Amino acid sequence: MSCRADFILTKIIATLGPASADPAMIVRLIGEGARIFRINFSHGEFEDFKALLDATRQASKMADTPVAVLGDLCGPKIRVGDVVDEGVPVEPGQCIEFQRTPITGGAIGAVNADGNPLLSCNSPDVLDDVSVGDRLLIDDGSIRALVTEKDAPDADRILRCQISVGGTIHDSKGINLPDSDLSVESLTDYDRECLKWATEHDLDYIALSFVRSAADVQVLRAETQRIDTTDAPIPIVAKIEKPQAVTDIHAIVEASDAIMVARGDLGVEMDLAGVPAIQKRIVKLTHEVGKPVIVATQMLQSMIESATPTRAEVSDVAGAIYDGAGAVMLSGETAVGKHPTKAVNMMARTARAVQQHLLSGEDTSNSGWEDQPPTWPSSGRRVAALAYGVRRMAKDFKARFIVVWSQTGNGARFLSQSRANVPILAASSDLQAVQRMNLLFAVQPIHLAIPPNIETFAQLIDPILQRDEWGFRGEPYILVAGEPIGTPGSTNSVSLRYVGDATNH
Ligand code: ATP
Ligand code: MG
Ligand code: MG
Repeated sequence: MSCRADFILTKIIATLGPASADPAMIVRLIGEGARIFRINFSHGEFEDFKALLDATRQASKMADTPVAVLGDLCGPKIRVGDVVDEGVPVEPGQCIEFQRTPITGGAIGAVNADGNPLLSCNSPDVLDDVSVGDRLLIDDGSIRALVTEKDAPDADRILRCQISVGGTIHDSKGINLPDSDLSVESLTDYDRECLKWATEHDLDYIALSFVRSAADVQVLRAETQRIDTTDAPIPIVAKIEKPQAVTDIHAIVEASDAIMVARGDLGVEMDLAGVPAIQKRIVKLTHEVGKPVIVATQMLQSMIESATPTRAEVSDVAGAIYDGAGAVMLSGETAVGKHPTKAVNMMARTARAVQQHLLSGEDTSNSGWEDQPPTWPSSGRRVAALAYGVRRMAKDFKARFIVVWSQTGNGARFLSQSRANVPILAASSDLQAVQRMNLLFAVQPIHLAIPPNIETFAQLIDPILQRDEWGFRGEPYILVAGEPIGTPGSTNSVSLRYVGDATNH
């Protein structure tokens, strides 16, 4: 487990894939600071996901560090079918065609009579909603085409498109149709299968792609509650990547447990120039209502190939943290990149540098870290009220960290969102709650058996604090708990303490 000197308040999410499938590699990513691992259901089969999950759980044990696993549902994303391994190069002016029959096994030489590349996609029926003149964008918009011809629904050829910006089309790359009015369901049959798998395999979070309204989140919520009747069904991360979602953002934030600003598709579906402003707005809003917010996609994109990022990428990571994002995410960088550990290391070092700058108090203009508690709706809940107070006390008392017993993780969430900006050591006997708390800004979860009372908890945690170098003898800290310990909703006591005191009798 990390010590205070190594700890980063900002949470790092690493996407798993072929470059990070090995437990030893995941141990290294944990060592560099990754605490949440993302399995993208868009790439691979259930046996691949199972291997990634097992490798992560194993690595977590090897590193003696709890981590969270986030499953990412594809939603109605249209993707290119199989293509040859080296990809299909396309040039401006050239035509491509989409056919209804799936192309499998990378069908070598799949070309039409004119020698133009033939492609298939995962949901051909959706392409029937496209009109001539609509834009068709591939791979987060890096390859662009216009639809020039459309065939009848009974024909095998669906569309012909003319490329305007070329590139190389690879397997399973996403297709965006920003001009088309598509009749798609928010939760596909495959998403339902993935959700069932995620629940059966105790994943810690589920993300929903292409959310358009709060109703989409509610459909998923109902489904999670139907298949998981425990007290704590899997929490939902809504991915904001459609213009409609930006419009309905307040209701979506309200309906979700966390938000991801998914800039890959957002930057294709909307004018890219507007994305930074949208990011700022969403981060601020989500943070204000006391929910975790993740900024994702292309953060250190050039590190897929290169050992060092561009200056702009590092600024982007820093900017997201200055905005107040509690978590930042790596996608291809750790899934298929050549330098997964370097990418996490770069992100962690950037987060640390921003953190040091902000905590120095030199710059007070930054929204996410300002000296102003979030304005989450007055919930009438003890923990919410408590968190306000603790934040103030932590400042005056110069507490080096906060310790909380947070059985469900809820108390830790409020403390996290109060932005006391010191590490929060959050203990629970519930392993899943412990894993889930990894998404919370500033929170270091700890798995402990329930102590009989608060004093025993203090005596138990004191040597751990010293052993793991979270605190040194005599340093001030705050302990938040309630009795009976482990009973959700019982948190009602705050004490100001010094490291070593509990064991000094
Ligand atoms: P999303 O829209 O959900 O982010 P994506 O296609 O952008 O989907 P990412 O998880 O962001 O996927 O990863 C970026 C790229 O890395 C993908 O486009 C894909 O080429 C590659 N990739 C990611 N995960 C895997 C995997 N498990 N196997 C193979 N390639 C992968
Ligand atoms: Mg996406
Ligand atoms: Mg992506």
